Amino acid sequence: MSTLEIDRVRKTYGNLEVLKEVSISIGTGDFLVLLGPSGCGKSTLLSMIAGLENISDGEVRIAGKVVNELSPKDRDIAMVFQSYALYPTMTVRQNIEFGMKIRGVPPAQRDKAARSAADLLQITHLLDRKPSQLSGGQRQRVAMGRAIVRQPKLFLFDEPLSNLDAKLRVDMRTEIKRLHARLGTTIVYVTHDQIEAMTLATRVAVMKGGVVQQLDDPQTVYDRPGNVYVAKFVGSPS
Ligand code: ADP
Ligand code: MG
Repeated sequence: MSTLEIDRVRKTYGNLEVLKEVSISIGTGDFLVLLGPSGCGKSTLLSMIAGLENISDGEVRIAGKVVNELSPKDRDIAMVFQSYALYPTMTVRQNIEFGMKIRGVPPAQRDKAARSAADLLQITHLLDRKPSQLSGGQRQRVAMGRAIVRQPKLFLFDEPLSNLDAKLRVDMRTEIKRLHARLGTTIVYVTHDQIEAMTLATRVAVMKGGVVQQLDDPQTVYDRPGNVYVAKFVGSPS
């Protein structure tokens, strides 16, 4: 069974058709990248997967369950956005533990989970700092830490690296790849950066104007682009 099934999803805002019958299925442990230029509908599709917005038509299923029919707490999804929205008055540790705290997880267990996430992200030495004392890359790691401790079935990332400088972007790319390998979770990752897509993905969906132009593994997308648009967008030689 597929972990994530996006089944003929359409989304319209008034007369504007932002997603046109998008269908994508991925398995457990897949790293799906939604790749396309600004405005092609990537973030909208991610919101549909997260159940954050109504679907005009079609269905999203996670582990066989229709997302819109689940209450938010049963969705088992964690999201990381490009703006990190950490709580400024809390320490890194408190930021990471906050979600567990409101769910009533006992302190010792919270602490253990936060430690293990921090180790994984190499931010253990920063646990007692405030967000204002962190660099952009470190803040992004904390945001990922908050997502990891939830141990979700599905991670959603929306251009998480686009606010970082070029060098950091490359470092964080490696970090995310390592994280995926270590955790083995299923990830849907939005970017307009072709190289990011090619290095991270196990499956790439190249999008244009609310339509998936090609869905394949990165090598195939690069070597055998399905049309001229894909070839130009991924910068492949043909
Ligand atoms: P991407 O993430 O690929 O840059 P988006 O999914 O954010 O693209 O947007 C796709 C299209 O949908 C754009 O034309 C955008 O202007 C439009 N759009 C997004 N959200 C709304 C909204 N709430 N109301 C109207 N139009 C929207
Ligand atoms: Mg977007």
